[in-house]
Amino acid sequence: MNKKGHVLNAVLLSIGLGYLLEPAGDLATFETIVAIGVPVTLGALFPDVDTAFGKHRKTLHNLPILVGFVAFPYVFGNLEYVWIGILTHYVLDVAGSKRGIALFYPVWKKEFGLPVGVTVSSKHANLMTVAVTFGELLLVAAIVVQLPRWGFELGRLTIGA
Ligand SMILES: [Zn+2]
Repeated sequence: MNKKGHVLNAVLLSIGLGYLLEPAGDLATFETIVAIGVPVTLGALFPDVDTAFGKHRKTLHNLPILVGFVAFPYVFGNLEYVWIGILTHYVLDVAGSKRGIALFYPVWKKEFGLPVGVTVSSKHANLMTVAVTFGELLLVAAIVVQLPRWGFELGRLTIGA
């Protein structure tokens, strides 16, 4: 996807995440959207730096880079949430774009993409971006809603209640 697509994805995703984490729709919701939205949007733009430095869709489009950004806050104490932007960039390039990305670069140069993707210049690119974002939010909603239930159920079984 192009820059506009990645920004659209990051902004919509952040708004959705804000409401999933703070569903009231009040000031706390807005603060969460801003707190997540800025680093997620910056993170979503980062992988395409490899259009200028390195091999595009390879150098900064792989799982080791994602792991590095997940670990970064624990090691250096900043850049929280940036990994979400990196992850959603990968998801959009894999699911929404025809070409795919080299997930296992530099070990394996093969680019992986889902066959449903459209070309970056397609007139359906924006629709595809919104659809992928919606899918991501459904997945997060399932995790946010279901995980506590599974935990509760597991706890209930463990104590035999
Ligand atoms: Zn990309």
